[in-house]
Amino acid sequence: MNRSFSLLIVDDERVIREGIQRILSRENLRISLAEDGLQAWEAMQKQPYDLVLLDLIMPQMGGMELLERIKNRYPDQIVVIITGHATIEAAVEAMKSGAYDFITKPFLPDQLRLSLRRALEKRTLEMEAVQLREEREKSLKDIAMEKSRIQTIIHCMASGVLVTDRDQIVVLHNPALAHLLKISGDPLVGKPLPDNPLLKTLTGSIAQVLTEEGPRTISLETALEGPDPVYLRAHTAAVTGDQGEILGSVSVIEDITYLKAVDRMKNEFVAMVSHELRSPLSAIQQQISVIRQGLAGAVTEKQQELLGRSQERVDGLLDMIRDLLDISKMETGRSFQQKELLNLFPLAEKTVAFLQPQAEAKNQTLTLRTQPDLPLINADPRAMEEILTNLISNAIKFTPEGGAIQVLLKPEFNYLLIQISDNGIGLAPEDLHRIFDKFYRVKSEKTRKIVGTGLGLPIVKQLVEAHLGYIQAESQLDQGTVFKVLIPSIPGERIPDGSITVETK
Ligand code: ADP
Repeated sequence: MNRSFSLLIVDDERVIREGIQRILSRENLRISLAEDGLQAWEAMQKQPYDLVLLDLIMPQMGGMELLERIKNRYPDQIVVIITGHATIEAAVEAMKSGAYDFITKPFLPDQLRLSLRRALEKRTLEMEAVQLREEREKSLKDIAMEKSRIQTIIHCMASGVLVTDRDQIVVLHNPALAHLLKISGDPLVGKPLPDNPLLKTLTGSIAQVLTEEGPRTISLETALEGPDPVYLRAHTAAVTGDQGEILGSVSVIEDITYLKAVDRMKNEFVAMVSHELRSPLSAIQQQISVIRQGLAGAVTEKQQELLGRSQERVDGLLDMIRDLLDISKMETGRSFQQKELLNLFPLAEKTVAFLQPQAEAKNQTLTLRTQPDLPLINADPRAMEEILTNLISNAIKFTPEGGAIQVLLKPEFNYLLIQISDNGIGLAPEDLHRIFDKFYRVKSEKTRKIVGTGLGLPIVKQLVEAHLGYIQAESQLDQGTVFKVLIPSIPGERIPDGSITVETK
């Protein structure tokens, strides 16, 4: 017995009480003694006992009366009856009334120990059963509480939530979803996805995530045009089981109509302000240029220097205005790409040649490489030139004197890869994931003197995405940066005599 059990010995004969106590003294027991039923009953009110050894014939309150009381109040109490031969029938009676076992006087020490051990084993089993029952009840309660908590959260969410099983039958949705989809009346649960114009695109993504080979998550924006346009943003994910098997889908849908309106207003405002600033700034730029050329009279060296600095500032402002107008045009969908079948190599060659003086001024090597069988792309040449110019001039700007910049064009699966690598100042991981954010510029000692707007990369990203392409950057601080742009290529269209290397320095 590892655990210490508590035992109450109830017998009016002192010899028996103490004899039993002696026999059991080596067992791991906490023993209490009572001379009759009444004393025993009082003791039991004060503390519970694992086991009661009970004599039947006693003054005051006999064993049978105590047993009845015990069974009424503590039905699980284990009681072993101690009885003389003469009262064996009474012992049987006691068993019928709920005693666990009986032992007849006189008994051998081993008989007593055996009976006691059996009783305590039962007690152990009972305690384990109680513990298991309590744990099970607690788990069930926890699960019920968790379920109700999740249900409350889903119910209160402002975003719509839609859960389907793998056959696209609606399993759960919240009131926000019904509100977003303008569904009233019949609940959707237990039915296939409703035929709702706003759900059309979403239904497609649900079907996609439910297929084994499909993506596990899809995010999309969908619009219902009309006099009161509605824009929704939905994130759909597959729900998988232990073995990765698909069990269903969960979609969270938000109404972004308001955000779209604010965004449109912001873009219109930026476009309007930029436009209004551009004309006077261009006039200032021209007039400074006229003065610097001496066409308005002699200019001293000091004045030349000051005017030169002013001109640089005005040029910077005009660059920013051009970028702002570009980005707001793209964001309001007013920038239309004039796509054509395009061989990017000559265009890259032209851009590299154009930026060559900038690289030379910093004593850098600027190399353009390509490969045979370069695929053609369907792209807007102006957009491609802007992408190349932005990425190459960034590489020049953020690479110190004497560095190397490489431009590589090559086929990659169904894409044309445009890769611009430098061995410049590089980017820390915390900056790398923010460089495509509007106006984000790394602030450090090394970038302090480099001018820019922080709009170049967001413009490049928008242009790449407008061509259904991808852009990604890899970088290590002080080692260099690689930008990779993938533009879908036209299947079967190849430029036969590729493999040209243009190297300049
Ligand atoms: P800008 O060049 O006008 O600052 P961009 O949007 O083109 O704005 O770039 C954002 C920021 O990303 C830059 O300010 C710079 O900190 C970082 N960056 C871009 N290209 C590179 C590069 N090749 N190497 C290191 N940092 C770069």
